[in-house]
Amino acid sequence: MHQKKLAELAAALRAGDFTSEELTRAFLERIERYDGQLNSVITLTAEQALQQARAADARIAAGEGGPLTGIPFLHKDIFCTLGVRTSCGSRMLDNFEAPYDATVSARLREAGAVMLGKTNMDEFAMGSSNETSFYGPVRNPWDLERVPGGSSGGSAAAVAARLAPLATGTDTGGSIRQPAALCGITGIKPTYGRVSRYGMIAFASSLDQGGPLASSAEDAAWLLQAMSGFDERDSTSMERPVDPYPEMLDMDLSGLRIGLPREYFGEGLDAGVAAAVEAAVEAFRGLGAEVRDISLPNAALAVPAYYVVAPAECSSNLSRMDGVRFGYRCENPRDLEDLYVRSRGEGFGAEVKRRILIGTYALSAGYYDAYYLKAQQVRRLIRDDFTRAFGEVDLIMGPTSPTTAFRLGEKADDPVTMYLSDIYTIAVNLAGLPGMSIPAGMVDGLPVGLQIIGNYFDEARMLAAAHRYQQVTDWHRRRPPGFE
Ligand code: GLN
Repeated sequence: MHQKKLAELAAALRAGDFTSEELTRAFLERIERYDGQLNSVITLTAEQALQQARAADARIAAGEGGPLTGIPFLHKDIFCTLGVRTSCGSRMLDNFEAPYDATVSARLREAGAVMLGKTNMDEFAMGSSNETSFYGPVRNPWDLERVPGGSSGGSAAAVAARLAPLATGTDTGGSIRQPAALCGITGIKPTYGRVSRYGMIAFASSLDQGGPLASSAEDAAWLLQAMSGFDERDSTSMERPVDPYPEMLDMDLSGLRIGLPREYFGEGLDAGVAAAVEAAVEAFRGLGAEVRDISLPNAALAVPAYYVVAPAECSSNLSRMDGVRFGYRCENPRDLEDLYVRSRGEGFGAEVKRRILIGTYALSAGYYDAYYLKAQQVRRLIRDDFTRAFGEVDLIMGPTSPTTAFRLGEKADDPVTMYLSDIYTIAVNLAGLPGMSIPAGMVDGLPVGLQIIGNYFDEARMLAAAHRYQQVTDWHRRRPPGFE
């Protein structure tokens, strides 16, 4: 049951081969059996899941519902879920039960999807390895001594081990694509404004975007469609119809022009990863695509610009966690000052504090022009690079991550090395473009991700290209040994 693709699961539910309740129990049992090794789920909502499954079974029996009705999924613990703890991987929100659903949560609830639980993540989505979580690190199912990537590492590890057929994630600088790459699954970061951010705990508001993680482009297309759409409660959400992604998977791709950014194949890229990505590009050539070199001349400025913009926005967003209104409060505060200082000091972990310090510094009156304003100018240059490139090509391809999964602890004490693991993903967020990662090879038993970047709101073409590749390759069907 757990190996079936989404369309097969939906068809089986309709045919009465099994019920959603049986399917839900099967995945709950897998979580029970395997998650001790992975630590990918931090809140299991088994009772609620079984209720949702029974309700889905009733809808299906009445001939109602859609493709996600009765399908289990795991939800990144950054999305508010009514009545269920929403911790964002932080001690600060360890006791926070959301009083409302995020728009994405509500949409999935209405679609009849069955939430199995909430997934582990880097604290407030800050990280590339899932080691900054208050709930401990997540392990990569391909090698338990290695990281799954981050910050949506719990979601990626769980889908790779088939503890759920689908999971949600968020991507501010690579947090869907990089863990998808390191865990050998498919993950999509949609165009900024495609998926509502309402009720998605904010890290860096001008960069954050929710998206799906799944075993294939086809499965991801269904979840993306359910998550997407205009939301009047998010002023950055775009009032623009959602393309029918699943129906467009077989769109005509003849004459497809693929650009390879020279800057994404230089120093720092692991040779095995480079070879796998080049072989994947060859496969696209074999499918009739025209491949050409392009240049993104400001690519090297993406990481430095991001590490001004993202911390600046997070220092502002996280100021609401003050020990007064909700979340963690220190014991016996002496006075208001002590309450603020100790609640924040005890509630936040080291990486989050580092970001708040950097961001507050960059925004301070004496440095705003030198850092924040400058970073925004660089951001425009990066966007202009992509606009120029998309005048010449339809899709851009390259590696998602410079290496395969690294060892737990390997980069934990060196923030700059850690930050560089997002060197190929961050520019996409700065520009607000859609990007995805699909499995495209293995190096020493570890998955390699191919990144596909599309033009604004061109998710359908990106997905169709990924789908075409997955029809002629089987990297996306590989499963980590031991999680059969
Ligand atoms: N790894 C990057 C960071 O630490 C991106 C995280 C994300 O996309 N949420 O900020």
